[in-house]
Amino acid sequence: EAITTDMATLTKEVEKFAKDKKLEIETLRIRETYRKEFIGNISHELKTPLFTVQGYILTLLDGAGADEKIREKYLNRASKGVDRLIYIVNDLDMITKLEVGDLNLNYTSFNIIEVVQNVFDLFEMKASKKNVALVLDREYDKEVLVYADKERIQQVITNLVVNSIKYGQENGTTEISVEPLIKNKVIVRVTDNGEGISEEHLPRLFERFYRVDKSGSRQEGGSGLGLAIVKHIVEAHDERIYVESEVGVGSEFSFTLERTSSSFTEE
Ligand code: ADP
Repeated sequence: EAITTDMATLTKEVEKFAKDKKLEIETLRIRETYRKEFIGNISHELKTPLFTVQGYILTLLDGAGADEKIREKYLNRASKGVDRLIYIVNDLDMITKLEVGDLNLNYTSFNIIEVVQNVFDLFEMKASKKNVALVLDREYDKEVLVYADKERIQQVITNLVVNSIKYGQENGTTEISVEPLIKNKVIVRVTDNGEGISEEHLPRLFERFYRVDKSGSRQEGGSGLGLAIVKHIVEAHDERIYVESEVGVGSEFSFTLERTSSSFTEE
């Protein structure tokens, strides 16, 4: 190899080196800001339930526990607060594993319709409290075999269904359809006729802790990680997630999956 000694080439190389270093430092700086923000968000999320639990315990210690009814009521509320903490920590654990790439996907072939049905069964109570109808669009089939990690996909559908009930209207509908797509793919759509999301929020919706209505959503008791987890799981499968929404009309979240060949059976 020729050794370049002429000044012009050397200058160029030095400049390029400096530029690369600058980019590297900039990337590190952004990452560091991101990390600090993440930790700040976690503390913020944990504080509300922690203070709630602490409040009930202190009141009990202060003598309120003498009355058996009050004691039970406060212990129940403290226990709910602890449940919420566990829920948030579980979501944090999941998102961390997903981001570190520490989550081995366990691929099998399974019936996605059955998974949708499972999720509907699990959330029937929650839906009926708001009189939300859970509807499975049966246009296509009773059995659609897909190739993916069943447990994780159930988590994806769960998070989307929970949101559609949470942000859907009273007496509304949550509808799921599974349709064939080109090239051995299916698309799963979760649609609600709820409050909808305005366009400016859509690009950031899948970020950790991003919320449209900061105060309102927290009352509803999520972790702010639901959609970030959904996106990670879908992308870990090398698939895509989409959202379409209109304020006052409703939202549709959809994601693709690989189907096991000839998985649509004729009725
Ligand atoms: P959260 O715990 O706040 O529900 P998510 O990550 O699941 O966290 O959702 C992020 C935000 O996206 C929610 O706070 C809400 O503002 C908005 N969102 C999610 N799903 C829907 C939906 N189906 N309809 C309207 N808004 C939604």
